Amino acid sequence: MRENVPLTLPLSRAILHIDMDAFFAAVEQVDNPALKGKPVIVGGAKRGVVSTASYEARKYSVRSAMPIFEAKRRCPQGIFLPVRMKRYQEVSQKVMAILEAVSPLVEQVSIDEAFIDLAGTERLHGDATQTARKIKGRIYAEACLTCSIGIAPNKFLAKIASDLQKPDGLTIVPEEEVQNFLKELPVNKLPGVGPKSEEALRGLGIHIVSDILRFPPGLLERKFRKYGLRLVELAQGIDDSPVIPCSPAKSMGSEDTLPEDTTAINTLKKQLLSQAEEVGERLRRDGLKGRTITLKLKHSDFTLATRSHSLKEATCATKILYDTAVMLLERYNLKTPVRLIGLAVSNFGGGQQYSLLPGVEKETEKLERVDHAIDRIREKLGRQIITRGSNL
Ligand SMILES: [Mg+2]
Repeated sequence: MRENVPLTLPLSRAILHIDMDAFFAAVEQVDNPALKGKPVIVGGAKRGVVSTASYEARKYSVRSAMPIFEAKRRCPQGIFLPVRMKRYQEVSQKVMAILEAVSPLVEQVSIDEAFIDLAGTERLHGDATQTARKIKGRIYAEACLTCSIGIAPNKFLAKIASDLQKPDGLTIVPEEEVQNFLKELPVNKLPGVGPKSEEALRGLGIHIVSDILRFPPGLLERKFRKYGLRLVELAQGIDDSPVIPCSPAKSMGSEDTLPEDTTAINTLKKQLLSQAEEVGERLRRDGLKGRTITLKLKHSDFTLATRSHSLKEATCATKILYDTAVMLLERYNLKTPVRLIGLAVSNFGGGQQYSLLPGVEKETEKLERVDHAIDRIREKLGRQIITRGSNL
């Protein structure tokens, strides 16, 4: 019997997920107290959509990603403000510094959201509930902002939990409560279940999480491939993904080792396209734009080469990232086969910069608008739904 016991028993984990409440709108209300209690709607003239609506504005069914004109229709008395990303980043840094004082294991996932692995913090900070209260208190004291916190044995449960009692919520899901917590939850709360898969699941009679467990895993696998098995895990509350601490990014990139070493430009271009997509999306999600694009090549003999190009204007447009990387690749005198290729963006600048060439700026703006629209659709319907043609 003893042999079956693993040498180190996995300790139950405590993961905290924190999400700031109506972040951009709340910062505006802090910076200008006259806006407190009013329907504040922060949105970009550039994107033409709502970034964040204050809770007062949400009463009029104003939501993020809604076109500004629609928000104006629903809430004509709303106070419409432009996005001040630089300011929100400043406040975000302050919040993240508070979190990093709690644990070195902080993974920032967006400007107003982070995971913390609480392992080993008990002695310093007391139990998880106390830690959460302490964090809330400090954020309120130092930034006058509220946040919602979820604590659970893993990341996905903590994220669901933080969303349950917004604003200013604190939801704790102890290990022994996981099954109960998940049982009645609508399936669309699970990560990866968008409207499309929700519909497919409904077709099978699966509405709430416990319905998933009534199905043989094999059937779900046939229907949803790998994701079917992931669904079964999630329905059981299983998720081992670690909290990966990251320092504030000075560059953002993506790289891949190729299935086999190659000199085929088209293969490399295809890789760059998916990397440009990924990096572009992450930049846009974090409200960042970069001026310098770097191509990284590791050859079959393990020699490393990097080539960079700086643009006149910072960008987050996928097409510009891709075109620039391809230009660098084409200029590079490729002789030795490539085993790893990467694309990175650095030299971050503020969102709004005006180029001297209005034509160029219009083009960039248009591309970024399209990208934002694609991001939103993907967010709703899932990643596979739109695949860019490689003729981009
Ligand atoms: Mg938030």
